[in-house]
Amino acid sequence: AMLYRVDRWGAPYFAVNASGNISVRPYGDDTKPHQEIDLLKVVKKASSPKSSGGLGLQLPLVVRFPDVLKHRLEALQSAFDFAVESQGYEAHYQGVYPVKCNQDKFVVEDIVKFASGFRFGLEAGSKPELLLAMSCLCNGSPEALLVCNGFKDIEYISLALVARKLQLNAVIVLEQEEELDIVIQASRKLGVRPIIGLRAKLRTKHSGHFGSTSGEKGKFGLTTAQILRVLKKLEQLEMLDCLQLLHFHIGSQIPSTGLLADGVGEAAQIYCELVRHGACMKVIDIGGGLGIDYDGSKSQDSDISIGYTLQDYASSVVGAIKLVCDGKGVKHPVICSESGRAIVSHHSILVFEAVSSTSYHDSQQVSPAELGYLVERLNDDARAVYRSLSAAAMCNEYESCMLYAEQLKRRCVEQFKEGCLEMEHLAAVDGLCELVDKAIGIGISDPVLTYHVNLSVFTSIPDFWGIGQLFPIIPIHRLDERPAMRGFLSDLTCDSDGKIDKFIGGESSLPLHQVEGKGGGGYYLGMFLGGAYEEALGGIHNLFGGPSVIRVTQSDGGQSFAVKSAVPGPSCGDVLRAVQHEPEVMFERLRQRVEELVGGGGCAAVVDGLACSFNNMPYLGNGKCSDQSYGAV
Ligand code: PLP
Repeated sequence: AMLYRVDRWGAPYFAVNASGNISVRPYGDDTKPHQEIDLLKVVKKASSPKSSGGLGLQLPLVVRFPDVLKHRLEALQSAFDFAVESQGYEAHYQGVYPVKCNQDKFVVEDIVKFASGFRFGLEAGSKPELLLAMSCLCNGSPEALLVCNGFKDIEYISLALVARKLQLNAVIVLEQEEELDIVIQASRKLGVRPIIGLRAKLRTKHSGHFGSTSGEKGKFGLTTAQILRVLKKLEQLEMLDCLQLLHFHIGSQIPSTGLLADGVGEAAQIYCELVRHGACMKVIDIGGGLGIDYDGSKSQDSDISIGYTLQDYASSVVGAIKLVCDGKGVKHPVICSESGRAIVSHHSILVFEAVSSTSYHDSQQVSPAELGYLVERLNDDARAVYRSLSAAAMCNEYESCMLYAEQLKRRCVEQFKEGCLEMEHLAAVDGLCELVDKAIGIGISDPVLTYHVNLSVFTSIPDFWGIGQLFPIIPIHRLDERPAMRGFLSDLTCDSDGKIDKFIGGESSLPLHQVEGKGGGGYYLGMFLGGAYEEALGGIHNLFGGPSVIRVTQSDGGQSFAVKSAVPGPSCGDVLRAVQHEPEVMFERLRQRVEELVGGGGCAAVVDGLACSFNNMPYLGNGKCSDQSYGAV
């Protein structure tokens, strides 16, 4: 546990139990004794066949803990409630969840349900996101906000106005100046008075990886001149009362409260200016940016850590707005935030299996006969190198040995390319070089193995591939056993980028246990803190689709768990359909060909096998047909 620093990045939700397994504490430290769920038991339940009481799901598997979501939401709300109360702030906090962080139906519905008691709403950035937000908020608090961000056309804006007609508090946030004309046009046509927000481009700049959207040259928002023009136009149309919200976004994963307070303070000044110009301002929406400490280092100087707590964050925001508004004699606005990462990151764990491990040093031991056979075939040049190598070895001149071995290998490869050596010769020279390495003691004392994992990095950890973001990845069991190996992870895709060779702490390999048994399996790893963005961004590179998903809650006062829903990941048929193939037609075509070409009794078995291939997930399976009934066309 110490080795993997679970106590640092995992607290208060993840710990190691007496059996050496990861335990999940859905209520953090709030229950004493801790209520906890053994993650390995959950995985075993999900992946065991139905015949033995399991759910028959294939891995990889996302395990969701709705109780963790609930705890995160409550923690965020309490932090702001405390800051509001203790600083005598004269308005409340009501957040929205940006659905882009994880659009899963259960995640969004759970958030709306858990947070309806404190007016929590949703943020959308595209038309389908707006549709799902509208539908989910029908069950939300009547006061919840529906913040409409992103690039907008007439269709998007009309939809947001329809939401107004449905008595949802949809705020159309102007990200581009041109959007105002569309809002005016569409609201006249639909006969709806819009609630307008505007996104300001702040001068404050977040210098970390996620800060490229901030600052004067940032991608989004209105400049000072544009804001002034919007105000003028609204005034001319007697619509200044429609402008009620100021939005800004400093960037995700804000590293320090210093930067936060700086940005929020600047925005609060803009807010006061909008009030001075006669807008009917009510809400300051501080965007996202509340960060996660992925490596548990509590550092302000890293993209994957943060130097503040939830309470520090809330207190800084409230303090910065209060200071400015009090100075200007402006009524305190309602504070809204669009935290995504901080709400959903912890609630899900991606579990996958290491199926085998291989060493770079896999050559056969080279026998004297094989060596003789090789030397015989070497050309004069290479033979001279070989002699020098032997001489250096006699005198224990290690450095020369290494140089000669490398030289010999190079010469042999050249000879192989010319067609003068056979594969057996090449294997012999590899074996010889390995022998030299071993004798000198390099590479062998600390071998780094390649662990092959039943996963696609592109589908499930896209930010590692795309932006090099690190997540805690550790075994979820055997944590009471010292790992004897080190390894990096190599995925199933036919792509050299499909590997994980950087881990929190900056290491290029991870301490890992030996994969037991031939055929591997049974060694489970978890990727933690990936509940935000990773599922939403993943593509289907190599046609590996998403993982299976289960939702798990506690039962019996914490000693056991209940699986509330279980959804198998997309089958091969499903991913084929996603790229416009027609699996039903494909299956039929192949079935007919089987009937024509495979005679007799074998025919049915081959057709069954085909059906299974369409039915099963694209990941490594166990050779059994999954329970999905897809193939029965
Ligand atoms: N709001 C806006 C406008 C964003 O661009 C983002 C993400 O970049 C968010 C909210 C969510 O940010 P975070 O995940 O840092 O909370």
